Amino acid sequence: MIRYECDRCGLRMSANDPRRFIVKMEVYAAAGPVDLDAYAEIDHRKELADVLKDLADADPDEVEDQTYRLLRFDVCNTCRRALLASPLSRPDEP
Ligand SMILES: [Zn+2]
Repeated sequence: MIRYECDRCGLRMSANDPRRFIVKMEVYAAAGPVDLDAYAEIDHRKELADVLKDLADADPDEVEDQTYRLLRFDVCNTCRRALLASPLSRPDEP
């Protein structure tokens, strides 16, 4: 039997437990429109070479964190209510 644990409070639940809920969090960069005129004078070959070098030297997890991340959590009903009441609460808040 698959057992689940609330990722917020640690409550143990079964796969079909009515107290079990799934929370998905999607985080990505909020890019706006690009002003192409601002890039008209840039040496695009050098810019591309710099970007590729930075990517080659970067931590893949850090690069992914800066562009897109999908997180999934199992939570109990009590924690579901708390998350919906205050989804972006600070760590020192209840
Ligand atoms: Zn919980």
